[in-house]
Amino acid sequence: MAVLKVRKYGDPVLRRRASEVGEITPEIRKLVDDMVETMYDEVGIGLAAPQVGIALRLVVIADDETRDVRPLVNPVIVDRSGERTAEEGCLSIPGIFALVNRAAWVRVEARDLDGQPVTIEGRDLLARVLQHEIDHIDGVLFIDRLDPLTRDRIKRKIKKEGLPEGTRHNAFAL
Ligand code: ZN
Repeated sequence: MAVLKVRKYGDPVLRRRASEVGEITPEIRKLVDDMVETMYDEVGIGLAAPQVGIALRLVVIADDETRDVRPLVNPVIVDRSGERTAEEGCLSIPGIFALVNRAAWVRVEARDLDGQPVTIEGRDLLARVLQHEIDHIDGVLFIDRLDPLTRDRIKRKIKKEGLPEGTRHNAFAL
């Protein structure tokens, strides 16, 4: 397994709509292993393939209690309910945190690494991680979900100060 370089805000791969994963090849399995290692190295609880430069619809999600990891291939949100606002960060936008409003509960359908259909339901933090990572494979970043004033303020701050290099995240980052 290898720790991959996490792509940062400004990298065009983060803005592409990623392609569906076809057959689960050994390369896909290796990519998942590397994404898991990268996520742990970055102290994240979720990671999407575009964040390591691969424009595929593939995400890994860590259970915040057990630390078990679930790879989700071609995940789709099929149902959602409620609303929650909580602070969110992103491994691709280090040092930036903001309150983001999202559904409180989601149901996601995907495939596992055996190609079998899986359904995962999550509320609160898990729901947030699922929505954040699935946004990534659509080329959407959490700052896109903010009100325009807050988003512009963050964009100006990044433009002026850049993003911190090599910082360790001790807050919720995806
Ligand atoms: Zn992210």
